[in-house]
Parts: sequence; C-alpha cells; structure tokens
Amino acid sequence: MNYPKKLVLLGATGSIGESTLKVIRKHPDKIQVVGISANQQVDKLLNIAEEFKVPHACLSSEKGSSPTFPSFTELKRGEESLQELASLVDADIVVIAVVGAAGLIPTLAALKSGKDVVLANKESLVIGGEMVTKTAKKYGARIIPADSEHNGIFQCIQGQPQQSIESIILTASGGPFRDLPIDQLQQVTIEQTLCHPNWSMGKKITVDSATMANKGLELIEARWLFNLEPKQLEVVIHPPSIVHAIVRFIDGCCLAQMTPPSMTFAMQNAILFPERHQGVESSIDFSQPLDLSFSPPSMDRYPCLRLAQESMDEGYSAPLVFNASNEIAVDAFLRNRIGFLDIPRIIENTLNLSESISTESIEDLLTLDSETRRIAATQIDLLA
Ligand code: NDP
Ligand code: MG
Repeated sequence: MNYPKKLVLLGATGSIGESTLKVIRKHPDKIQVVGISANQQVDKLLNIAEEFKVPHACLSSEKGSSPTFPSFTELKRGEESLQELASLVDADIVVIAVVGAAGLIPTLAALKSGKDVVLANKESLVIGGEMVTKTAKKYGARIIPADSEHNGIFQCIQGQPQQSIESIILTASGGPFRDLPIDQLQQVTIEQTLCHPNWSMGKKITVDSATMANKGLELIEARWLFNLEPKQLEVVIHPPSIVHAIVRFIDGCCLAQMTPPSMTFAMQNAILFPERHQGVESSIDFSQPLDLSFSPPSMDRYPCLRLAQESMDEGYSAPLVFNASNEIAVDAFLRNRIGFLDIPRIIENTLNLSESISTESIEDLLTLDSETRRIAATQIDLLA
C-alpha cells in the first residue's frame, strides 16, 4: 500500500466527519486530507482546514459569510463545487458523510472518477441504489460501506461466495422509546428523541433511530450493497449495540461483528481496508458481564420500519418516496411542527398519494424527489 492515501471528506463538520477525523489524527502517516466540505458551518470547516492543512474546501450552501481561509486552502461554494471536490484528481478515497438525499450527486461524481468511495450516507443508496451500484461497476470504483451494520457485514463476508449467504441480520438498539408505552409516543419531546441511549450522531439519524426509519433505510441500503433479495434481510432489537450485524450462511453458521458503539471502528475499517491497524478507542471488555440479548421488533411500535419494508418490497420509486417524505417529516418534527407519531403518518400518506414508477435517469430521480417533498409538505400543512 502506498501511504499516505489522499482523502476527501464530504460532510467533514458532522458526526461522521468527526469520527473520520479522529481516525486520521491517529494515523497521520497513512491518511492525508486533501478536501473537506460542509453545508454552512463555516467556522468549523475553517478549523479543520487549519488543523489538517487541507488544500481544498467547499461550502455547499451559497448563503452566509466567507471568512478568510488560510492561504494554503482554496475555498469554493455551491453544489457544483461539491461535485468537483468529489472527483478531485488528487484523491484516492472519498468519504461521503453528507446527510440526506444531498449525498447522491457527490457519490455518483466520486464513483464516475473511479475513486474508492467510503459510503456513510445511506440515503443515496435508498433513492438511487440501482444507479449507484451500476455506476460503481461501470467505472470500476469500489464502494466500501461505513454504516456500522454494513461495515460489519462487509467484514463477515470477505472471502465468502455470494451463494453461501442465506441472510443478513441488522441489529437495532430500539432507540430511546423502546420500552415506553405506545400511547405515550405522540407526546415525546424533541429533547427526549435526540437523547439516544448508545450512539452520539447527527440530529436527523438520531430521530430516524427513535422511529426505526433508520433501520428501514439500512435494509434498503444493505439490499443494494450486498446484492440481496428483500427476503434475505432481517432486523433484530439488540439494546446495547455491541453486535452490529450477523451473516447467516446456508450451512446454518452465523458470523457476527462486534465493537463498542462508536463509529470510529467502522470508519477506520472502511478507510484503511483491507489493512488493520491499532484502533482509536478501546475494544470490548469481556471481563465485564455482557448483554447479548436479541428480540424481534414490534411493527406496532415502529411503523416506520414496516413502511420501509413495504417500500423495499414494492421497489421502483417507493424507497425514494419513503426517504423524501421521511426527511420532510423529520425536519418538521425537529421544528416542533408535528408530533412523533405524525412522522409515520406523513410517510404513509405520501406513499399512498404517490405512484411507484421506474426512474431511468438522475433527472427523473431528482424531479420525483422534489415532487414527493412537495406532497409531504402539503400533508404537514394539513396536520400542523
Ligand atoms: P450530521 O448532521 O452530523 O452531519 C452532516 C454533514 O453533512 C455536515 O457536515 C453538514 O454540514 C453536511 N450537510 C448537511 N446538509 C447538506 C447538504 N444539503 N449538502 C451538502 N452537505 C450537507 O450527520 P451525520 O454525520 O450523523 O450523518 C451523515 C450521514 O451518515 C447520514 O447519511 C447518516 O445516515 C449516515 N450515518 C451516520 C452515523 C452516525 O453515527 N452519525 C452512523 C451511520 C451512518 P454543516 O455542518 O455545515 O451543516
Ligand atoms: Mg447504522
């Protein structure tokens, strides 16, 4: 391996961005940051540029002030600049740690330039899974999964033929409301929802974890990453988030991947793959009692998971509609416009009002995405 590998980090100012930077601080001889992006947190972006002496930076939002960046950093603005950064000639690896559907275009740009793409952004695969995987194949680019469950599966299947996989099992903590009486769910506050029992993450994915829309998105993500049928994908509740994923092989043997609940493990594995080096944090302490309990999720408690599974089964554009309406509903919840249980209501109504169609081009996808967001927003106006 030629070190240092040159890495572009899109979404550097977020939670995954922070985990990635922890890995890079630990292995400065192996990774050099050559590009970073944020949407609007310009001061945080500036600090990262200074600390890591980054030559290229991008703010995707056109709004807001532009402080002076160090002379060694070229700052660009706008979505086109984000695409440019994703395909930077200098880079070997592009980490996609942008949140939401905004991850799709830079993911495609990085794949088209043949880079190794370390993909944390799951929404891009949910809305454009077929296009993303075909693009990777066409341009000979690798997608290395960084979502903890998917990175776990990726580790378990190395060297195993595709036909040997019976199914994969994604674990879910069940979020902060796992044991709350269902009739109290509508009243939960934003603060309670953002208080995840195990993981520290961005706001959107933290709400998605409480509704388990996140696990639904991850099922669809896994389907595309590992080329599996929906019936080969299972979900179990595992409250401590120590076992991230299990692969069940056709001979009945199951391989599981385990770490403490922190994203530095998956990010390091993905960035330095196939090599292993000392980790950023301590591993599991087996001298202490360990909770390895598993139980099936209740679809009454987690309607978002049911809706995601139904969208995956329906295929075509249904997962895109699920994702776009979820993004709009989560945003409305975080603005205190709707209650917690209105999130699945908005998604279900939007799915019912949308036809599942075949989307051939990126333009088709983006048009449908905007149309779905408009329908979901109208549903919110009716509820709010
Ligand atoms: P955060 O909200 O913490 O960070 C998001 C990052 O994306 C920030 O750098 C943000 O910039 C940038 N961003 C926001 N909106 C846009 C946009 N429209 N265009 C370009 N960039 C944008 O999210 P997370 O780090 O939690 O999650 C990132 C992705 O990784 C998500 O898809 C999530 O599902 C996935 N993931 C996250 C995990 C986690 O532990 N956090 C675990 C597994 C997967 P700014 O700071 O300026 O707003
Ligand atoms: Mg995950």
